[in-house]
Amino acid sequence: MTEAIHGFSSTAFAERCRELGFRGAGKARELYRLALREGVFEPERVGLGAEACRAYRAHFSFALPERVRVLESAGPRGPTTKLALRLADGLELECVRIPMGRERFSLCVSTQVGCKMGCAFCETGRMGLLRQLSVAEIVVQLLAVRHGLGLSVKNIVFMGMGEPLDNMDGLLGALQVLNDPGGLAITQEHMTVCTVGHLDGIRRLGEAGYKRLNLSVSLNAANDALRSRLMPVNRRAPLRELKAALVAYRPRRNFALGVHYCLMPGLNDTREDARDVARFCDGLGRVLVQLIPYNPGGDPLTRAPEEPEVERFVAWLREQGLPVRRRVTKGRDVMAACGQLGNVDLRRGRAR
Ligand code: SF4
Repeated sequence: MTEAIHGFSSTAFAERCRELGFRGAGKARELYRLALREGVFEPERVGLGAEACRAYRAHFSFALPERVRVLESAGPRGPTTKLALRLADGLELECVRIPMGRERFSLCVSTQVGCKMGCAFCETGRMGLLRQLSVAEIVVQLLAVRHGLGLSVKNIVFMGMGEPLDNMDGLLGALQVLNDPGGLAITQEHMTVCTVGHLDGIRRLGEAGYKRLNLSVSLNAANDALRSRLMPVNRRAPLRELKAALVAYRPRRNFALGVHYCLMPGLNDTREDARDVARFCDGLGRVLVQLIPYNPGGDPLTRAPEEPEVERFVAWLREQGLPVRRRVTKGRDVMAACGQLGNVDLRRGRAR
């Protein structure tokens, strides 16, 4: 079995080449940079001889997964692109390139196929967890967009299928590869991890020492009864414990926590809900609440909120003194918006 180059950092790749006793291991970093930055794995281009080239090709691979679907949805800031890729075992993953304005794009990557967290508003949650993604399978999503589709990406957000902190090895490995100055060189400031509140994961991420990395918590309700209904994780890790974990997560002095709130009409959209959010945020230091209008999926919990309902809730949050950014919904028509990733049929197919 070959090893994927993009599963290594540049240093680890060079070490692996030395360990294997390959000739020209001194060229390994150049080979690595060429592959990750330009999308070509051509040992000849770094001046390796025929025998060494054969050895590298036999041991390492650099293949983009099969593209199953590419769906695009136009929007005022640019197109949203949803890409489905087939993995070696036949399972599919999805990632979404999202326009952020001024020609900048974020890539929302998956860390798992499916998810075991079971959030009631999320399509991926309905699939259950099929499996964890490896470091190479997380990183390859960026390569497939950049080199496969030829599209630029500025930021990486770990908000696709799966709870990233439930796949710590995959996440930490991918952060290292993406951040590696000898390869993709995506700075920590341009990466965001979003969690539903995986307490051990928050602690381990803090210990990993990424001082400039962004962290967001998917809150969606700030009273335990409602949050437990919407997000089963809250039964194991109630709000008091989540808050304590977030207070302890202080990677830098000016750190601002992202607080995501998916607005679901009739479920979490009252003035009291807004007050609960403010109470939860009190004591967390700098926060930025990101309000996300609910995107109905295959088996919707409720409808999408109307514009005046969104504006009213934003006003109630601001009334509480919270800084709020309203997320513009992108890609809802191609099931690429928040909470819409995943393919329940895949799970059914597997069960059959
Ligand atoms: S919202 Fe995130 S954590 Fe919750 S079920 Fe969906 S993918 Fe999993």
